[in-house]
Amino acid sequence: MFHSIRWRIALPYVTLLLVTMLALGVYISNFVRQSYLNDMESKLASEARMIGDVITPDLVSAGASPNLDPQAKHWDEILNARVTIIAPDGTVWGESEQDRATMNNHSDRPEVIQALATGEGSSIRYSQTLGVNMMYTAITVLKNNAPMALVRTALPLQQVSANIASLQRVLIAVTALVTAIAILLAVIIAGRITRPVRSLTQSAWRLASSDPVVQPIPPSRDEIGQLAQVFNIMSTRLSGQIDDLETERITLDTVLQKMTDGVLIVDEQGRVQLVNPAAIKMFSISLPVAIGKPLIEVVRHHQPEEMWQRCRATGEAQRVDFEVGHRLSLQGIATSLGPTMSGSTLLLFQDLTNQRQTEAMRRDFISNVSHELRTPLAALKALTETLQAGALEDPPAAHRFLEQMETEVDSLSLMVNELLELSRIESGRVPLNLASTPPLDIVTPAVDRLRLQAERAGLTLSVECTEDLPLVLADATRVQQVVVNLLHNAIKFTPSGGVVTVNVTRQDREVRFAISDTGIGIAAEDLPRIFERFYKVDRSRATSGTGLGLAIARHLVDAHGGKIWAESEVGKGSTFYFTIPLA
Ligand code: ADP
Repeated sequence: MFHSIRWRIALPYVTLLLVTMLALGVYISNFVRQSYLNDMESKLASEARMIGDVITPDLVSAGASPNLDPQAKHWDEILNARVTIIAPDGTVWGESEQDRATMNNHSDRPEVIQALATGEGSSIRYSQTLGVNMMYTAITVLKNNAPMALVRTALPLQQVSANIASLQRVLIAVTALVTAIAILLAVIIAGRITRPVRSLTQSAWRLASSDPVVQPIPPSRDEIGQLAQVFNIMSTRLSGQIDDLETERITLDTVLQKMTDGVLIVDEQGRVQLVNPAAIKMFSISLPVAIGKPLIEVVRHHQPEEMWQRCRATGEAQRVDFEVGHRLSLQGIATSLGPTMSGSTLLLFQDLTNQRQTEAMRRDFISNVSHELRTPLAALKALTETLQAGALEDPPAAHRFLEQMETEVDSLSLMVNELLELSRIESGRVPLNLASTPPLDIVTPAVDRLRLQAERAGLTLSVECTEDLPLVLADATRVQQVVVNLLHNAIKFTPSGGVVTVNVTRQDREVRFAISDTGIGIAAEDLPRIFERFYKVDRSRATSGTGLGLAIARHLVDAHGGKIWAESEVGKGSTFYFTIPLA
């Protein structure tokens, strides 16, 4: 408490006041006591002198050892003071308050010795006889300039002490009162002076503990007021800057959290300083705390580590393409962060899997299409050459060749149509003729179209469809195309002896079509991708097809507001489902 400025200002003043009051008290009580004693001494001396004058005749008439007790007692009653009459040799001749017989020679009393030497003496002593402090005053009674006797008057000092004590009590009370008032005033004044300092301190504390609400300090015109004003300006600016920094930090943090690119920052020793959620996902980082760990331990791939080392050695941006986990194609870019964050390197990882897959798909598509086109074109070329070489002269053979040529041209135009169809559907240029249609009107024509093909492939094709199914809102031709595509695949991917089933059931507000086969099945990792354009599980082109059938089917089902999906188990078969809403 006494460390505060308020007390440091108040204490010296209070101490000074206290010391002054005490010194004054001591001085006043000593002064008053001395005046009392002086008064008393001169009063006693004059009384003694008066007694001396009055008793001189008695002394002259008295013998060698007179009894002057009666005179002493008489004066004691008048003056109310002890009176002793002493011979020059110290023998007590008269005494007012004591038995003279018990009193010894008084020649050794200081007042007596002094009076014999100078005519008057006084002393303050403790009286053995009366047991109190007394003031004694003695004078000599002269005869022919020689001491004839000594008259001593004495009074106890009790009254003086009592007066002094009461004076001291008053002084102490006044001192205490003044001190209390002084302390109160000092504390109030010092408190007023230091109030702005205290608000300043509180505000500074709030600022230090990042409390956003900093109350402005009331201004005053003194030095502290100026300091407060400067502090107010400073704190406003500081909180503004803190707010800006916080907003910036939150923005940066949100960007880092939300961005799909992986971000890592490594220090000069290759220890990870920052890692964002995308990077954690890309590298399947399972460390509870990746911060502070070596890069290689965190990403567990040598390419990022080597890229970082190259960047650190050359100071130039480095790039690396690599794969992690299950077919995740990443591109890493390392950039030095100096001089802002000297020695640190920013590692950015972009997921290029989709891009790479699309590129691969395009490549596959072009080679697939070329392959698919080459076969009928080669056949057409061979047939044309054969006709030119003379087969034209043989009308039955020419007729056969022409039929074959027609088949090849049909297959070519089918493929071109499929491509055109997909591009039209994808660009939304296919209008749907929606009408209330019985599901059987969709399934039956499609199954009829492929029944022969299924029989040729040695498969059993069956339809499970009840007559009482509700109508669906569909463009029958388009939905038939979906069923044909799915049936076509089922037949294509099911070995001879298998079974292909078409099942149609009602489900809430829609009808579900299921085309199942007992064929080769599709691996779990391919299943989510088979509806993509040009995607083929078997990339060796051993099976015919462009990878467009399912993409077309998906677009058509989507356009009807339905869903399409597949379930499959490798070696056991697949089931393709799609739904069409009720009419
Ligand atoms: P494609 O013209 O190659 O048949 P699709 O888009 O119809 O193109 O099918 C894409 C790929 O999905 C096929 O190449 C095949 O690998 C796989 N697939 C589709 N249906 C089946 C099925 N019933 N059984 C096994 N694999 C299938």
